[in-house]
Amino acid sequence: MLRDTECGEPRVSDVSKTITLAGWVNRRRDHGNLIFIDLRDRTGLIQVVFNPKTNEEAHRLAENLRSEWVVQIRGEVVKRLDGAENPDLPTGDVEISASELIVLNPSKTPPFEIRDDIEVDDNTRLTYRYLDLRRPKMYANLELRHRVVKLMRDYLDERGFLEVETPILTKSTPEGARDYLVPSRVHPGQFYALPQSPQQLKQLLMVSGVDRYFQIARCFRDEDLRGDRQPEHTQLDLEMSFVEQEDILKLVEALYIWVTEKAIPGVQLQKPFPRMSYHEAIERFGSDKPDLRYGMELCTLSDLAEDSGFGVFKTVVGGGGTVRAFTAPGCGDYPRKTVDELTEIAKSSGAHGMMFIALSNEAESIDALEPDHIRSVIKSHVELDTIKAMANRAGAKPGDLILMIAGPSGVVNTALSNLRGEMARRLDLIDPNEVSYLFVLDFPLFELDPVSEKWGAMHHMFSSPRPEHVDMIETDPGAVIGQLYDLVCNGIELGSGSIRITDREIQERVFALIGYSREAVEERFGHLLRAFEYGAPPHGGAGLGIDRLLMALTGQNIREVVAFPKTQTAVDPLFEAPSRVEDEQLEELGIVVRETAK
Ligand code: ASP
Repeated sequence: MLRDTECGEPRVSDVSKTITLAGWVNRRRDHGNLIFIDLRDRTGLIQVVFNPKTNEEAHRLAENLRSEWVVQIRGEVVKRLDGAENPDLPTGDVEISASELIVLNPSKTPPFEIRDDIEVDDNTRLTYRYLDLRRPKMYANLELRHRVVKLMRDYLDERGFLEVETPILTKSTPEGARDYLVPSRVHPGQFYALPQSPQQLKQLLMVSGVDRYFQIARCFRDEDLRGDRQPEHTQLDLEMSFVEQEDILKLVEALYIWVTEKAIPGVQLQKPFPRMSYHEAIERFGSDKPDLRYGMELCTLSDLAEDSGFGVFKTVVGGGGTVRAFTAPGCGDYPRKTVDELTEIAKSSGAHGMMFIALSNEAESIDALEPDHIRSVIKSHVELDTIKAMANRAGAKPGDLILMIAGPSGVVNTALSNLRGEMARRLDLIDPNEVSYLFVLDFPLFELDPVSEKWGAMHHMFSSPRPEHVDMIETDPGAVIGQLYDLVCNGIELGSGSIRITDREIQERVFALIGYSREAVEERFGHLLRAFEYGAPPHGGAGLGIDRLLMALTGQNIREVVAFPKTQTAVDPLFEAPSRVEDEQLEELGIVVRETAK
């Protein structure tokens, strides 16, 4: 071993021991005759002092040390002088008086400093990801992720779950995204698809009698990337036989409580997890993944708005749209500029604009509001009594700001939900120690694509309708509620699950509604339907994102919690992937690439 102690370990109880450390030079400071360095490894920092009186050779060598050089140091643990302690470091009461220094490897000057809270663009960070990961915060993220996954494995193992690996080279198992395809050399012109999830494979494992399956599974989805998406993501994929929805919810709840409390000691967790229907979530929060760590619930003002006689409201509500709002407490004095910023957020969420009612805190109560207490574009179009009624319905008090949007309900809900999140951040309403899970239940099984006007699966097409809704698959698809659930954490959708269809006839009817011909079904899903004819047990499960869980637990974005992520344009700047391949490789695969503009 090149060391017997790690940098974060030495304490006062070690004073006068001689130890050997190895690590990176975090910083060097010359103080006249004395040279100080902070030596760093994954466990932390320790101060090392080179004194020519202790060892002249080591002191001379130390003069050349630069940041990120890799060194081995031997020396004695000594107590720091009174007043020279560093309370910010766990090792801050001691230092190492170096008697020997060996340079194991020098380093070029890194493109950014190795410390937390640096301001460096993502591309540079990802190009030098191995340096970026040296930063303590990044190591902590990797460690937390490791801990979370290990806890999941331990928990499920104890309950009889079997971890089974399923293939990466397979046939399309669609989750509503585009497939990543891999050409076959042995069968030119044919392709494997990378799994969007192991959905069909885990269902086949249930037919095999595995009964309780899980996998820390990689899923590949070729879709436009957003803040919380990567081309590949990892999920805790699980499936259970002979269960009903409630059994799965109970298991998932107990598992996530256990994992969260063990991974983050002292965490504040709401138990049992609140549950609400999809409909209730949309009504109260405008989103099917509401963050419950703060209030500011939405209300509907359509009736008051329509009756007010204001033309804008009349057109919207008359045209089937809605007027909804929420109250930002204590923001009635927001200047025009701030309100404009909020309006921009509403617009970038798809809304035409945003209206507001700003209430001065000079009024005694809502009922005592005078026109002078109100700032709003609607003031000159809507009667004072209606404004008061709106304010009462929105739960506003004098001094508050009511944010209001009129338009098609989907757009209104999305925009208000985004504004709700924005206001929570601005008002600092989120307690960083709180983790808030939520089950959203009773999703519709199908949704109508407004452009193609075709029915699609809200989740995926293997999810079962409620038994009492099976008859409506053809007659009223929009009213069919699925045995479907989502787990949400701090406003992030971790993933979904469902009780599956195990009846070939119902599965075929779902495929038919979604628009698959008999031939297409046979070609794409024949294997699954045949399996169902050999004694498929009732089963269900879930796929719950691990990257997203780490995002929720750390409050950081997805690129902070994945070791080697890709950029927003699906590029890996470190490996420079994707990249061109050799002509021979294309030849072997029987692929001809058409020249593109690039
Ligand atoms: N396969 C689903 C998904 O990846 C999860 C599930 O239904 O188990 O979203």
